[in-house]
Amino acid sequence: MIFKTDASETQAYLEDTSALRDGHTPGVYIPENQEEALQVLKKAADEKFRLTLSGNGTGTTGGRIPYGDYVLASNKLNRILGVEKHADGTGTARVECGVLLHDLQEEALALGLLYAPDPTESYCFIGATISNNSSGSRSFKYGATRKYVKRLKVALLGGDFLEIKRGDILADDDGILRFTLASGKKMEIAIPNYDMPKTSKHTAGYFSAPNMDLIDLFIGSEGTLGFVLEADLHLIPKPEKIIGVLAYFSDKDDVIRFVDEARERTKKAATPNELSARALEFFDANSLDFLRQKYPNIPAEAKGAIFFEQEVTAASEDELLGEWFDLMEKHHALLDNSWAALSVDEQRAMREFRHSLPVLVNEWLSKQETRKISTDMAVPQAQFQELFNLYETQCQAQKLPYILFGHIGDSHLHLNILPKNMADFHRAKDLYDEFMANALAMGGTISAEHGVGKLKSKYLVNLFGEAGIREMVRIKKIFDPDLMLNVGNLIPKAYLH
Ligand SMILES: Cc1cc2nc3c(=O)[nH]c(=O)nc-3n(C[C@H](O)[C@H](O)[C@H](O)COP(=O)(O)OP(=O)(O)OC[C@H]3O[C@@H](n4cnc5c(N)ncnc54)[C@H](O)[C@@H]3O)c2cc1C
Repeated sequence: MIFKTDASETQAYLEDTSALRDGHTPGVYIPENQEEALQVLKKAADEKFRLTLSGNGTGTTGGRIPYGDYVLASNKLNRILGVEKHADGTGTARVECGVLLHDLQEEALALGLLYAPDPTESYCFIGATISNNSSGSRSFKYGATRKYVKRLKVALLGGDFLEIKRGDILADDDGILRFTLASGKKMEIAIPNYDMPKTSKHTAGYFSAPNMDLIDLFIGSEGTLGFVLEADLHLIPKPEKIIGVLAYFSDKDDVIRFVDEARERTKKAATPNELSARALEFFDANSLDFLRQKYPNIPAEAKGAIFFEQEVTAASEDELLGEWFDLMEKHHALLDNSWAALSVDEQRAMREFRHSLPVLVNEWLSKQETRKISTDMAVPQAQFQELFNLYETQCQAQKLPYILFGHIGDSHLHLNILPKNMADFHRAKDLYDEFMANALAMGGTISAEHGVGKLKSKYLVNLFGEAGIREMVRIKKIFDPDLMLNVGNLIPKAYLH
């Protein structure tokens, strides 16, 4: 067991990619095997000290930042325990929580398999992506992490643990989950009694559904119920080939019409030989302006762009490309200037293009005296246009610089407001609250993919109401009766008693 207390060594565990910079800890436990992780959780319960669970610090919500708590780090629990290919072409990977998403993806690809969840940032740990139910651009076709978790081993405060295989423990018709811990202790939990938002992506609060699987209670629980030690993950056959296209448009309304039709056709596609996007990503005019610093060839008349990807085969590639170009032409894309990435190298260059946007924004922000305000809310598809218009009209009316980009296929855009000074920053924060209230009134979620962490916990009350938060506290206390695990994350602190 490694245990660090020296500030020069614990500093690395006090940050993630949120702007929170005032975390502090008396010490960081870095177990070198699963048994040692269980020992830390037992010691914490015996000696009554709080623990904050740490992944690789790429989270955006302050989830892994401790405020006086000890840290339990996953870094050394980083073994890929096996990757198996099955006769039907799918596979299973058994991994410990500290395995890098990037390493799992590479290992799967080498066997002709794909681990589908891809939350843009690949230097995150698998345990954290499970605890956050991470998703990304290609979740449009493949879904979020939840769908790929077949088995979990979760360590609990006190040093007990449970192993859950999907399908083994389902809530009965009265909403009760019954299961047994590794120690033999029998448990009973009534599932959370609230409705989830009807958005295509959602990761805020404990999962709830009739006859739900116990495994789903832990996925997306942001480390508030237990420490994910190990998982079995479903791998799908690696697609033979992918095509990627960046289509520019001179009229924003054409972009929306293009997306609506692409989404509808994707939903209806019944065979692999039909037009069917695996990603549909949006860049607004302001995003393109940022990108022009590095990519001066972006056409001057472009007022928006869509990046899309589709799985193809050598036999279907030409025809499907033709269908996509017909759709682009129908919606007046700037065909001559659009960029088709057909080779792996071109696709890497296109990924670099997309990744450049946050990099350029961060460079710009580093020269300002303030920080950005970014949204991760999503609304049901029928309300998407309303929220989109609200983002634009309000930012423009307030004269606040902004960019709007992201997962338009899932009706989920990230708005980044970029205040130039503190006065703008405060106005941007007020606007954020207004957007949040509107998104909730439209039946939306406070977080579609980045989770709640510490930054958004206060909004969870607006999503589920006080009764809903008390439901979460009731469940947390079954696993963590003294309220010591990831305190301050997800559930607002005022309700933890
Ligand atoms: C440029 C960029 C783009 C991103 N894009 C996306 C995106 O498209 N989609 C998306 O979903 N996310 C995205 N993210 C967010 C981030 O990558 C994910 O949330 C990821 O899951 C965090 O992993 P991590 O290992 O860095 O976790 P950390 O930041 O270290 O921790 C995240 C949370 O997980 C908890 N945790 C960590 N390990 C465990 C464990 N073993 N058991 C239980 N709880 C644990 C922590 O307590 C914390 O609450 C992006 C981040 C960046 C920087």
